[in-house]
Amino acid sequence: MASLNSQLSALNSGPSAPYRGRLAPSPTGLLHLGHARTFWFAAERARAAGGTLVLRNDDLDSTRYRMDFVAAMIEDLHWLGFDWSEGPDVDGPHAPYNQSERRAHYRAALEQLHAAGLIFPCTHSRRDVIEAVGAPHADDEPVYPKTFRPPADTPLPPLGDPITVNWRFRVPDEELVFHDGRFGEQRAIAGRDFGDFLVWRKDDVPSYQLSCAVDDATMQITEVVRGADLIKSTFRQLLLLRALGHAAPRYFHCPLMTDDRGERLAKRHDALSLRALRERGASPREICEQFSRE
Ligand code: GLU
Repeated sequence: MASLNSQLSALNSGPSAPYRGRLAPSPTGLLHLGHARTFWFAAERARAAGGTLVLRNDDLDSTRYRMDFVAAMIEDLHWLGFDWSEGPDVDGPHAPYNQSERRAHYRAALEQLHAAGLIFPCTHSRRDVIEAVGAPHADDEPVYPKTFRPPADTPLPPLGDPITVNWRFRVPDEELVFHDGRFGEQRAIAGRDFGDFLVWRKDDVPSYQLSCAVDDATMQITEVVRGADLIKSTFRQLLLLRALGHAAPRYFHCPLMTDDRGERLAKRHDALSLRALRERGASPREICEQFSRE
């Protein structure tokens, strides 16, 4: 346990490379005020560090994303005054910046995990998992039961191409810790606070955890700024980064914005979409000034 913690914290405080941050929206709806605020933090931190900002388009899940949302997202971000020097619309040394065009990177990472015996094929459905352990806590998936795992020494079947079964990462029973730039020390016990998680789906789509970890590493991101709803995902991504032999970036999670009733802003709050605010005459300056006062 101690060795893992020291390894993770060593990775988290690695040598100071020039700052590279990223905006990583998913084109599954119109951006709203909550996104704008997270991206404002990301852009400000990159600017303050004299660093580079990368726009990554998280468009892997073709059942959920829409092309018109990609264009809307880029336009809304420009309207707010954000500027990036690498991205799908401007290219750059780590192109492509659309996740849908980066499958070869994810597949190579998956093969590495497979060769190391760190993943396993899972035929249990989400319903099986919920029946075994109960409904998940808000915002997270149910903890995958260890009884569903094949024994560690079971030989793995080949991955196949296309992939037609879910593959999960076998999490070690360890306490993980990382320093968050906003919330300070974060701890979780793998196997208790979260379980074996998906790295590749049976419909042949890489998981968010895998694609994000691989992209943050290969695009040489030095600090990930994103919403606090992803703190638990950070532990998963730290495990993947370590398993793949990559240094971890630093992390800064922003508190989530809530509406008047204390509910998290989601894409369904259309009235707070940047489009709607713009149509009602709000200016980017007003919007961003409000974030800078918080
Ligand atoms: N695309 C992800 C989302 O919109 C964010 C990923 C990240 O920042 O790591 O939730």
